[in-house]
Amino acid sequence: MHYFPHIISDDEPCWHEFSYRADSKELIIKIHKSFSSQDGEALQTPYFLKQYRENYSITDCFRLGQGDFFGFNGCLKQFQENDFNCLAFVFPTVATNEFSACRSCQGSGKNTRYSKEDKDCRPCHGTGKKMVENWQHVDDITDSLFIIAHYLLPSIEIKSSSSQNQLFTLDFNRESKSVNEGAIKVTISQAFAWWWAKNKNLNRQELSERLRDLWVYLHGRLPSENDERFEVEYLNQGYFAIKYPGDRAGLCANNNSGEVTGGYDIYCKNISPKHDLLPILGIMAVVHDLARAERI
Ligand SMILES: [Zn+2]
Repeated sequence: MHYFPHIISDDEPCWHEFSYRADSKELIIKIHKSFSSQDGEALQTPYFLKQYRENYSITDCFRLGQGDFFGFNGCLKQFQENDFNCLAFVFPTVATNEFSACRSCQGSGKNTRYSKEDKDCRPCHGTGKKMVENWQHVDDITDSLFIIAHYLLPSIEIKSSSSQNQLFTLDFNRESKSVNEGAIKVTISQAFAWWWAKNKNLNRQELSERLRDLWVYLHGRLPSENDERFEVEYLNQGYFAIKYPGDRAGLCANNNSGEVTGGYDIYCKNISPKHDLLPILGIMAVVHDLARAERI
């Protein structure tokens, strides 16, 4: 039987969900066992791997539910928890320190160049050492998530036996060099949309700060002072939206003026999957945990 879940207009049993553990900085993708057991082959298909990394030698690390690690260079830890096959990674940073002194502060770690006060130097994050960026691990994670996101797209013809609703799905284009609408799309389910619209008093200030923290940790530096645009928003009549550093960057629904009557897609603007996916996924996981804590 063909089955295509429509989370925008129907309550659909959850086939995957997201969670963030602040103490260990772990982001977890949980795939319901009733879903993964029906299509265990999908993630073992070499086609997926070859398509996105030409020279990657295929190993068996892409076997869902088998072994301790999963994904490119084994970047995801694999374990089982209750009804879920879980894939987790510790939220990464691209910043590594070299031994030479930071040129901007001459090694002092303090800098008045960015503000009148003698604050921590932005380029070296107050360490006094020259900062270099290494994106390899982030690329491993993002590429692995890309393959998983395809596997989890709602066109898959499998129904989960979970008693909870799917809250949202994530689609993104890893190859997208541009930062247009198609780079990241989040589909908000009607269950999540109604919960968010009703929760006008949720502490969005705190959520916005957590989004900023994730961005700062990933990049290993502070955003420029005139680009502090981290906001988890309650837009108009209660649409979920995110504001992000960059020229009018963020994610929001194309049509967000009317009343929230069900789920909707939020599209991104001026967002690059390589640099921005993980903080956005991180804050979505935090919000997912909040909703689940309220039995949504
Ligand atoms: Zn410095």
